[in-house]
Order: sequence, then structure tokens, then C-alpha cells
Amino acid sequence: MTHHAAAPCPAPGERRCWPLHVSQPETMSTTIISPPSQTTAMRPRAVPTERPRTIVHVDLDAFYASVEQVERPDLRGKPLLVGGRHRGVVAAASYEARAYGVHSAMPMYQALTLCPHATVCHPRQSVYASYARRVMDILYQTSAHMERISIDEAFLDLTYHVQEWDGGIEIARKLQARIWDDVGLSASLGVATNKLLAKVASDRQKPAGLTVVRPGEGASFLAPLPVNVLWGVGPVTAQRLDRLGVRTVADLQEVPEPTLRDMFGERGKWIWQMARGIDERAVVTEHTPRSMGQERTFEHDIVDAGILEARLTEMCERVAGRLRASRMAARTVALKLRYPDFTTVSRQIRLSIPTNDERTILSAARGLLVHTWEPARSVRLLGVTVRDLCEPSPQISFLDTLNE
Ligand SMILES: [Mg+2]
Repeated sequence: MTHHAAAPCPAPGERRCWPLHVSQPETMSTTIISPPSQTTAMRPRAVPTERPRTIVHVDLDAFYASVEQVERPDLRGKPLLVGGRHRGVVAAASYEARAYGVHSAMPMYQALTLCPHATVCHPRQSVYASYARRVMDILYQTSAHMERISIDEAFLDLTYHVQEWDGGIEIARKLQARIWDDVGLSASLGVATNKLLAKVASDRQKPAGLTVVRPGEGASFLAPLPVNVLWGVGPVTAQRLDRLGVRTVADLQEVPEPTLRDMFGERGKWIWQMARGIDERAVVTEHTPRSMGQERTFEHDIVDAGILEARLTEMCERVAGRLRASRMAARTVALKLRYPDFTTVSRQIRLSIPTNDERTILSAARGLLVHTWEPARSVRLLGVTVRDLCEPSPQISFLDTLNE
């Protein structure tokens, strides 16, 4: 009698094992996927990936110039340029200077031709850094799930801070008020379901804007905008699209995915998704884990290949679920086996493409098991760990499509 047959009903939250055979991978996956319906309720609790995320992008307005205006009240309401006076470029221009057509990265002499009476301030990086830190502290106090992307820009993932999606709008409004009240700086915010939409949104109503893109509104929000609002669509890409007559995101939404893939390779898929407001990338914090794993010491040592395989399947499903819930993918899959004499064997494999797909993780782990386990030797502990975590790349979705 195997341990499987002797085992009582699975504990709540645990999935019953189905006999599988290491030598027949094709049949294995079929058997795993369709357990009898009575066990459905015992499957590992689904991670709530369905719920739309609440992502906020915060961007300070004319940051360097605004700091100078806070520091020097006599310059408020006046055109001000930050940058080197001679042979320099404009690092930041106050909104009063922008009214004259000045923008950042413009040569200073040109800016001063457009706006001769502007005050020019030499950049003071340490002063800006200390203001930025005060703003980031405010954001961090709101949520540690924060990713800073430049000196004056950051994302917050408020998904687990709010009961209802709209709750994020109120938090954003309070943040904006607090940055103004406590630091004296104006910020523009975007509230949306992902990083792409939140970032595009924060830029729509500068300065001091708050732009909301509700769940399901991403594609229509982007439609009237020029293609270069999309992440990574620079002048070269925009020019190539322009030759197709594609100028707005609405135009881009008409282009079939294979056409984009022909033009831009793997990036084409990503561009196709962005045009629809799809962006699965995670808000990556300092606290983002470096690995995720499942490990289990069995109550009874396991000697049956089928049971071992079933345990492995459960673990891979959970690990993949956690990866997807965190919007992460892994490049390395590791397997750990411990025998009753406490001999422990670990093996890992590096994947060519990062993944969060349970079938891919399982097939890697299964390969490791075949190479690691000495059949007929009982196993005391089994573990699956994924490492080298990163954001899912567009290739993953591409592969997912192929697999389906
Ligand atoms: Mg800014």
C-alpha cells in the first residue's frame, strides 16, 4: 500500500494527489489538470489576480524650478530657468517661462532669446535631492509598495490599501495636498490600473493635475493621444509607424499584431498590448523578494513516483501563482530533495526566458526531479524555489499565447 492510498482525505487547502508517472510527461499533465470536481474546492486558494490594481504615478511639476521658487519667494510667479548660463541647456523651466515656448533640454541661449527677462539659477543638486527625499518620505508613509523611477517621480501600488478601486483616487488627492502643504511643491498624479496608464495620466493635466483612468477605460483613454506617449515609443519607432499612417494610439489599435511583430520583433507584441492599455509590470520595491519557494517535509517519507510528482505539481502551481500575483517572472527554477538520512540534494536550471507560467515551471522542476531523485529511495522533504526574479517581459505573454 502506498502512502497515497493510506493517506486520509486531504487537509483543507491541500490538493489530493493523483498518481503520475515520471516516464510519461505527456500523460502527466493531462492527469493533473482534470481532477474530479469534488476536489475543486480543495485546490490551493486562488490568488486574487482578477481584481484591477490601483496604481498611482506621482510626478513633481517643473521640479528644479519649483524648488528654486520655494527657496526664493521673490521668484514665484516669474519665468525662471535652471541650468548653466553659458553653453548649457535648460534643466528645468518654470511654467511662467514655458509660456514663452521654453522647455527643458533646450539650449540656454535659445531659451534666453525666447524669454530674455528670465532669471537663470545654477543647478543645486543637493538642495533638489533633499526636497525630493521629503516628497518620497510622504509617499513611502502612504505605502511601502513604492517604486521610485527618477528624482521626482514614483509609482505606488495601492491595490491592497483600498477596499474599492475608487479609494485610490481619494488617497491620491490627499497625497497631492500633503506634498503641497508640507513641502510647498506642486505634483501631478495619475491613478490607473497599471504603470503605463498611470504614467501617461499624470502627464495629461500638468501642473497640479489629478487624472483618473478607471478600470476598462485604458484603450479609450489612450486612443486620441499620439503614439509617443507609450513607453519606449521613441522618435525612431514613431517615425516607422508614421510611414504606415499611424499617428495616434487609435491608429495603432487598428494595426494587427502580426504586422507589429514583423516590424518590431518581440517588441511588437508589447506595443500591441500598450496600445490597448495593457501593462502587467509590477511596481518593484526595495522589498521585492529575490526568490519565492515552497518547501515541505512530509509526514511520511514518500517513495512513490506518482505522489512525489503530484506534490511537485502542487508546489509549482503555488509558486507560479505567487509570481503572477506579484507581477513577477523567474529566470531560475531550483529543486531540493532531502532523504531520510538528511542527505540534501539541490539542483537548479536557468531558463532561456523568464516565466511565471506553472506549466513551464513544472516542466523545469520535473526535469530536475528526474535528474536528482534516485528512484526507490524515499524522500523526506521536497522543495521548489524560483530565483532571479524580474518583471515579466513581453516575450512571456507571447509564449503564453503560443502555449494556449
Ligand atoms: Mg517631473
